[in-house]
Amino acid sequence: MDFKGKTVLVTGAGKGIGRAIAEGLAARGANVVALTRSEADLETLKAEIGCRTIAVDLADAAATAAAASEAGPVDFLVNNAGTTALDSFLDVSVETMNHLLAVNTIAPMIMSQAYARDRIARGLKGAIVNVSSVSSFIGFADHAAYCASKGALDAMTRVMANELGRQGIRVNAVNPTVTLTPMAVKAWSDPAKSAGMLNRIPLGRFADPKDVADVVLYLLGNEAGMINGIAMPVDGGFMIN
Ligand code: NDP
Repeated sequence: MDFKGKTVLVTGAGKGIGRAIAEGLAARGANVVALTRSEADLETLKAEIGCRTIAVDLADAAATAAAASEAGPVDFLVNNAGTTALDSFLDVSVETMNHLLAVNTIAPMIMSQAYARDRIARGLKGAIVNVSSVSSFIGFADHAAYCASKGALDAMTRVMANELGRQGIRVNAVNPTVTLTPMAVKAWSDPAKSAGMLNRIPLGRFADPKDVADVVLYLLGNEAGMINGIAMPVDGGFMIN
């Protein structure tokens, strides 16, 4: 996986999985454009890997569209930024549902439209990876808005793969299980709940951010040149249980 001379836009690059993706890409020669909300994270990442940085709240569609055009042109796109909320189906509010859809589904749509329009206009091939979740496939209690937003992201990924694939732009999703990042600590801090999840993972551990980042890099690169439209679990076998 060699990204020398390639420019890659990574959303949510400040922390967790997105940061591991940005670090992995930079280590393989990529010029990273890091886009996230917290300026402080962008500063530390810039000091670490020398990336270009853009601060934006992806819940704001107009600001996201402006950031997408500021970020381009790039060779590859990783839609990684995401957020969660812990509400049962009966309690989830319209505001929460709208917020998670805005960040987890609509922002990837806006970013991908800008990316793909540029690639197509210039007659160039490309690749997009959307960071989804096993929550797309499983009805986890208290994750109504999150599961819905990731299910929608996977559905959109398939349409993108169908339409954009015909223009030489491959689009795939990765679907991690619990991955040990700040967001996972928020969602899985209850030991009883995490023990139940761990028991369902044959490999006996949660994912590390690098486990997910390595798969994202593979799907972006030439080695995955015939892979288009998949939702790839990165889950230690969780999905077979
Ligand atoms: P983290 O919370 O560790 O990092 C998320 C990153 O996305 C942060 O840099 C965060 O910035 C950014 N982000 C979140 N909301 C916004 C926003 N509105 N605008 C701009 N940037 C934003 O999460 P993870 O690394 O765990 O998650 C990365 C992706 O992986 C997400 O899509 C998540 O759904 C998915 N995932 C994670 C799993 C896990 O167990 N960790 C499991 C399965 C999927 P800031 O901190 O400034 O808000």
